[in-house]
Amino acid sequence: MTMPTTAEWICTRCGSTNRRLVPETATRAEDVCVSCHARHELEPDSRPVRWRARPKAR
Ligand SMILES: [Zn+2]
Repeated sequence: MTMPTTAEWICTRCGSTNRRLVPETATRAEDVCVSCHARHELEPDSRPVRWRARPKAR
């Protein structure tokens, strides 16, 4: 059974903190900033909750 986990990431454009629920086994995700709507690719970092965000070309 997979439990959802929270991926927390910082927007590279406006610096807002975003949160997204992802499956525990996820190795990458995509999300859109709640504040400026920039699309980002997310990858887990060494710390489980804070994910690394990369801006994605639209
Ligand atoms: Zn933003």
